[in-house]
Amino acid sequence: MGKSIAIDGPAGAGKSTIAKIVAKKLGFIYVDTGAMYRAMALYLIRKGIARDDITGIKKACNDADISISYEDGRQVVLLMGENVNDLIRTEEVGNMASVSSTVGAVREKLVALQKKLAAEKDVVMDGRDIGTVVLLDSRCKIYLTASSKVRAKRRYDELTAKGEKCDIDRIEKDIIERDQRDMTRENSPLRCADDAVKIDSSDMSIEEVADAIMEEAKRKL
Ligand code: C5P
Repeated sequence: MGKSIAIDGPAGAGKSTIAKIVAKKLGFIYVDTGAMYRAMALYLIRKGIARDDITGIKKACNDADISISYEDGRQVVLLMGENVNDLIRTEEVGNMASVSSTVGAVREKLVALQKKLAAEKDVVMDGRDIGTVVLLDSRCKIYLTASSKVRAKRRYDELTAKGEKCDIDRIEKDIIERDQRDMTRENSPLRCADDAVKIDSSDMSIEEVADAIMEEAKRKL
């Protein structure tokens, strides 16, 4: 088992931005587990499976071939060998991922892949169940959160910067709905691990959050 930092938290809390910075500073690999759930969601959408067709999701997920590679230090998610990095950041895929990730068969498959990566390398891994399931023995766990208003604004800025038209209230509604689903699902719900440090980034800059996590990493690893 390599060294690890486990970062969990709700959508839009800034996990991936911060995890990338911290990974770079420490020379660790950044593992974005949400991207794996999104690749699985894209596979299901392409298969024409409806969001509420849990039986269909269970069956289809076994045939999805998802793997990870690294190009210039950047994580690339491969779906059936195809680089899908640029196709998985839409709200449609995010909403499907939030539903399909409640299915046990989907989680089992992706958690196995995540554990394998962490066994081979030093990692900063972010997601919803990293400190509670995937890297239960990690010595450095962070629970990163922020108010739903702040998180919606961040997602809105991200999307408009990419030229996508969107409605901020709609985004906040989606975020709250997604959190609700992630926190109340039966399989590996999102929660703060007992041994995690909780950071509310609502009024913090990216640098401040990264510094706080680096302090934790220095103390605990
Ligand atoms: O973090 P991101 O928004 O990319 O994740 C998409 C969805 O995948 C989340 O809403 C969540 O339902 C699911 N997910 C999960 N467990 C993880 C990472 C993501 O259930 N470790």
